[in-house]
Amino acid sequence: MSTPEKSDLTTTAANPAAGRSDEDWRQELTPEEYHVLRQAGTERPYTGEYWDTHTAGVYNCRACGTELFTSKEKFDSHCGWPSFWAPLAEGRVRYIHDRTLGMDRIEVRCANCDSHLGHVFEGEGYGTPTDQRYCINSVSLKLVPAADDTSA
Ligand SMILES: [Zn+2]
Repeated sequence: MSTPEKSDLTTTAANPAAGRSDEDWRQELTPEEYHVLRQAGTERPYTGEYWDTHTAGVYNCRACGTELFTSKEKFDSHCGWPSFWAPLAEGRVRYIHDRTLGMDRIEVRCANCDSHLGHVFEGEGYGTPTDQRYCINSVSLKLVPAADDTSA
């Protein structure tokens, strides 16, 4: 348990919400949340909480609570993960070129706490306004239903 970890995720300079150490994250998050958010893991498709959710509301960062996506930009991609065609606002997320696993992808992270959210793909022909698909792990998000949602 006390294996020294590289602390590249724990620098506080660029992470205002995250004066948290790696050990803090371990204690605050469930093991699955920690694996995805802090170790860039991926939940299995069709297993997450929100992949097929249509509830109106805002999706916050599970780690720090920043509002990241809304149900207005969520669409049915049938890929097994919650998919959005845009973030709530530019600046809420940041992008990192990810060449791990022999793939060439764009990783999406919470701009506030630098937690891993998922990846963004484009040009897949989904017919959304941006032709982008933010493929986000359910476990990285926390849905806050809209107060006036009467569909439930
Ligand atoms: Zn965050």
